[in-house]
Amino acid sequence: MLTFVQKLAAMVMLLALPSSMSAPSQTQSPPPSNVYDLIIIGSGMSGLGAAKRAKELGVAKILILEARDRFGGRTITQPLNITLPPNAPAPAAIDLGAAWIHRISGARGFNPMAKVANESGSGYVTTSEAGLSFDPKGVEDTDLWDSTLQDMLDRWEVYYEKYLDGNPKDSDSLLTVYNQFIQSASWSTLQKAALLQGLTTEIAMDYAADLSQLSGPWSQSDQNWGNGPDALPLRGYSALISYLAANKTIWTNYVVDVIDYSNPALVNVSGRILKGPGTGAKFTLQAKGVINTMPLGYLQAQLAPATPILFKPALATNQSAAIKAMGMALLNKVVMVWPNSSWWSGIVTKPWLTMRNSTSLGSFSEYYNLAATGVKLPVLICFNAGSFAKGVESMSDAVTVSSALGPLRRLLPAGKTIPPPVQTIVTRWASDPWTYGSYSYNKVGVSSNTRQKAFAPLGTQKRVGFAGEHTHLLFPATAHGAYLSGIAEAERLAPLVM
Ligand SMILES: Cc1cc2nc3c(=O)[nH]c(=O)nc-3n(C[C@H](O)[C@H](O)[C@H](O)COP(=O)(O)OP(=O)(O)OC[C@H]3O[C@@H](n4cnc5c(N)ncnc54)[C@H](O)[C@@H]3O)c2cc1C
Repeated sequence: MLTFVQKLAAMVMLLALPSSMSAPSQTQSPPPSNVYDLIIIGSGMSGLGAAKRAKELGVAKILILEARDRFGGRTITQPLNITLPPNAPAPAAIDLGAAWIHRISGARGFNPMAKVANESGSGYVTTSEAGLSFDPKGVEDTDLWDSTLQDMLDRWEVYYEKYLDGNPKDSDSLLTVYNQFIQSASWSTLQKAALLQGLTTEIAMDYAADLSQLSGPWSQSDQNWGNGPDALPLRGYSALISYLAANKTIWTNYVVDVIDYSNPALVNVSGRILKGPGTGAKFTLQAKGVINTMPLGYLQAQLAPATPILFKPALATNQSAAIKAMGMALLNKVVMVWPNSSWWSGIVTKPWLTMRNSTSLGSFSEYYNLAATGVKLPVLICFNAGSFAKGVESMSDAVTVSSALGPLRRLLPAGKTIPPPVQTIVTRWASDPWTYGSYSYNKVGVSSNTRQKAFAPLGTQKRVGFAGEHTHLLFPATAHGAYLSGIAEAERLAPLVM
């Protein structure tokens, strides 16, 4: 990373350029020293993966431009205001974005995030998916409920496989398929309720979108890394980010507004400095290749106006339409921290907790108990997803936390109260102007190749490429998908830019 003084000098140089040089015409070739081999837009997992791989391949002049005042994008580890015992297995910190390394191993080998966690010195602990579920009155669910739920999910799986084999329509949502399934036999009220609960927790929560928004045929076309357990990086995802960001040139507070690829041999990247020295100043940089990792939600917002300016020339209509057709999901966390886990440790003994809700499925009902994992933190996290989570973003922190504590009160005997948390954190990823959501999903209406069409490289020499979780065909919505997409794009562009 550049020191502050180096960065200031670079910025002053940019500001000092006559305007004709800062915005060269299509045919003008700036002096070679001003040309980067590779500009990467975004310092999230994909951008840092791309920079790492490009460097390994011998690409010399690499610059990462980041709009935020920090690296990491949708990975951010926040320190907690509690003191842990000296022998605590993990520091007091919590991930507000990506938290798990999904399926650390399996037929595909070792998940690359687990490798980065080891290299970074963070290490990781594997986690179990064991959970408890309670009915709307706060009574632990019966064996009958559990077995009905499992039975209905098994039947659903068989039905869904047949649905996929039967030439399904792209216009189907997952809710349409659920309704067809429900009409296919005469199910009891218990069976219907159990299946809807199962689909809400297993699918709508995971993909972080409503059943009515998820594509019938394509919502689950992503793949698992393998069959191994999930894991939590012991020092959080930011440890992995710091490791990957070391020795990279990253300019934070640099917002890219225009990617001009009209010159076949050289791309112009223009924007503005958002904060710090030179606030408001414009910049234009040239590169032989550009990797754009702007998240899907951000791209969709940029393409929404009648005449978008982000790409010059404008994207082909079918590419722009494909980007707009994808879905940006929403998963939010309410993190609640206590000095220790004594008030719940005798009741919630497993990592996952479902507090079933009779009114609105999936609302303030899914919790993660970090005290029952290898990091042993006295923290409960409540997850909300989809349109419900969007609505919650407009609530105050106090109301949100109180709503997350509400269902937990049902766990305690009458007369007992939950001690107030000593710290709470409420995430609002849909309101985050650099992502507008948590991760991509296949929305109702997409077809098998929408994602491919959306993120095809640009220009006659394909010098502008896309990376990011949203561009990965097998592992979208994950940190490893993002990382691998960056590596793949660096490998594609390296021969063109060296
Ligand atoms: C709540 C939540 C929970 C998650 N849980 C998990 C999990 O447990 N496991 C998992 O594997 N994944 C999880 N994910 C997904 C994972 O975080 C993402 O897939 C991954 O971090 C995305 O990386 P990326 O590089 O594609 O995008 P980002 O990390 O978003 O990086 C893109 C960067 O581009 C920057 N940028 C945007 N616009 C501009 C601009 N105009 N100019 C310059 N820079 C710009 C952004 O600021 C950002 O830093 C979760 C995500 C969320 C939000």
